[in-house]
Amino acid sequence: MIVAIDGGAASGKSSTARALSERFNLLHSDTGSYYRALTAEMLRQGASPESVDSVKRALENIRLATRVEGRSARIEINGHLPGEEIRSPEVNAAVSHFAAIPELRASLLAYQRGQADTARGGRFAGLVMEGRDIGSVIFPDADFRFFLHADPAERERRRLKQGQVDKVAERDRLDSSRKTAPLSRSAGSVSIDTTTLTIAEVADLMASVIEGKAAVP
Ligand code: C5P
Repeated sequence: MIVAIDGGAASGKSSTARALSERFNLLHSDTGSYYRALTAEMLRQGASPESVDSVKRALENIRLATRVEGRSARIEINGHLPGEEIRSPEVNAAVSHFAAIPELRASLLAYQRGQADTARGGRFAGLVMEGRDIGSVIFPDADFRFFLHADPAERERRRLKQGQVDKVAERDRLDSSRKTAPLSRSAGSVSIDTTTLTIAEVADLMASVIEGKAAVP
């Protein structure tokens, strides 16, 4: 079973994906953390989103692998698990610029699709993958595709509560307007407004859809 969850920054993807991974024993892939890890590595190597050549050069020095910890599929870059630096203000500000570069996205495409094999090869009933282009590009044939959204002010508040400096509206603007794999609701996905719902309520709603109890709007 493959569950795809897309949505803007702080729309509730990670918390609900984690809840579903526990409920249905699914491997959980947070692809935002993959783009963040690559961004931190680009910055470390001195690459700039203004120079595609510098990005391509840096990508040549990068080998990706997956480490499964509990139900979480974590990315390893050159044998290292990235740390808290992937949530830093520098990475928050740069990630959407790097994520708009087709070559950088291409370097993650097969890696992300390969997570379905990782899930199959493990003790999991399937995969829940969250991001911006999972239902549209990575797994358009996923068994279930969800699109989460919420009021921008509420999303800024969620990030502040997590102690993060993050311009969610600005990231969404960049993510929605890029040419390659923009953030958008894919046709046929189940759209949920999470503004006034708790994580448990959103997860319950999604679980009902998966269990066939709720009609797809
Ligand atoms: O999900 P999170 O907010 O951590 O994602 C960080 C950034 O990574 C997004 O703002 C977006 O630029 C990029 N991203 C992407 N495609 C995905 C997941 C994340 O472009 N599938």
